[in-house]
Amino acid sequence: MSQYDYDLFVIGGGSGGVRSARLAGGLGKRVAIAEEYRLGGTCVIRGCVPKKLMVYASQYPEHFEDAAGYGWTVGEARFDWPTFLAAKDREIARLEGLYRKGLEGAGVEIIESRAEITGPNSVRLVRNGKEVTAERIVIAVGGTPNPHAALPGYEYCISSNEAFHLDSLPRSILIAGGGYIAVEFANIFHGLGVETTLIYRGAEILSRFDLDMRRGLHEAMVEKGIRIICQDHIASVSKSAAGNLEVDTLNGTRLVVEQVMLALGRDPNTSGLGLEAAGVKVDERGAIIVDDYSRTNVSSIFALGDVTDRVQLTPVAIHEAMCFIESEFRGKPTKPDHDLIATAVFSQPEIGTVGLSEEAASRKYQELEVYRAQFRPMKATLSGRTEKMIMKLIVNAADRKVVGAHVLGHDAGEMAQLLGITLKAGCTKDDFDRTMAVHPTAAEELVTMYAPSYRIRNGERV
Ligand code: NDP
Repeated sequence: MSQYDYDLFVIGGGSGGVRSARLAGGLGKRVAIAEEYRLGGTCVIRGCVPKKLMVYASQYPEHFEDAAGYGWTVGEARFDWPTFLAAKDREIARLEGLYRKGLEGAGVEIIESRAEITGPNSVRLVRNGKEVTAERIVIAVGGTPNPHAALPGYEYCISSNEAFHLDSLPRSILIAGGGYIAVEFANIFHGLGVETTLIYRGAEILSRFDLDMRRGLHEAMVEKGIRIICQDHIASVSKSAAGNLEVDTLNGTRLVVEQVMLALGRDPNTSGLGLEAAGVKVDERGAIIVDDYSRTNVSSIFALGDVTDRVQLTPVAIHEAMCFIESEFRGKPTKPDHDLIATAVFSQPEIGTVGLSEEAASRKYQELEVYRAQFRPMKATLSGRTEKMIMKLIVNAADRKVVGAHVLGHDAGEMAQLLGITLKAGCTKDDFDRTMAVHPTAAEELVTMYAPSYRIRNGERV
């Protein structure tokens, strides 16, 4: 019999925590998981899932508009925010229930309490002050929106957390940031009829994506009526007597809006977790430092997911959890593979991408072939919508391997998943060329771009 209360104690009931607890429980280990809020974590409770439901809700006005070109007459359309919120919350509660059921089915003890580390093998449950011991501890507490507390008036601003539960939709909103969350929510709020402005410090939104995607999305958003201010930053936020928020920017613009949302990145959730007590090392941002196997510097303590600030994505946290189980409980040391992660921005239009942007690839490879297509998707012909799709394949000329694939347009996220398989498999451009097109689809363009649009040699377009 082990000297510890548990074989594994997991702190945090999000994607990484739940997966590791459930798998270890399924192997017959004695496992407990502590969660202070709701099972499901950021992804299920206040991230990916409710966000995607909001994306769907926000797309209807365009569907109604497009219907006319196909002969439909749609009556007056009205959106009721409380009805949507209630439906969304029911779905989130259902998913939370599934997480609970999965854990219970694997024999995992669910502890509804904050847990803090007190030593290499011990944890204190804040709810009742009880200390428990475990042979291994997994920290999977995720991240939290950066509150940007140095900004005068930050207390008037909301983050994505609050955006999921607003009492009513504001008439106008200013969103700060140019990353996933800022861009997705700008499209959501605009679609729901909110006058939307986005402010971003850089020259172009979505700094880590391919420039064609960034520019294409920017143009499409502006065309819809979203105002985008680049190379500027909020200097202060104050509340007017009428209750509006007055925002002054560094460049001297004044904006008056009903709501300001900050989407300036997320911080690891490590403060007050007791990491010092156990001697667990963190970096300057508070992220837990781990090795290739998600081990911290303390041999009995592991960390998974956003709290390690490797790649802040749900499937990555789940993958890290599965590798941890393989390594620690199945005797098969397995490193998480963070290479070639396909991802999507659920903007409108969407971006789906895997591999290197043209800019990153041109720094890495001597010669590239770039295949690029820009076209109006078939659906937009009768609807009269002016939107464009952009597709791009970046090919290393030396071995013909496709090293980057990027799509802007409808269902780009769905395409990214399949493109991810092809890049992971190491497919060459010749493999794409000998693949029969599925006609008529937008995706067929990915296998019918036979001649390079241009080449990049030693970083220069030729
Ligand atoms: P991101 O890292 O995507 O974007 C943060 C944005 O804030 C960037 O535009 C960044 O600018 C800007 N920024 C950061 N610090 C400052 C500052 N001090 N002043 C002004 N601007 C600043 O983070 P998000 O918050 O949007 O999302 C967090 C994570 O969640 C993402 O990294 C992503 O992994 C994940 N996520 C994934 C989604 C998906 O898969 N669809 C959806 C939502 C979130 P700059 O670019 O110039 O550094």
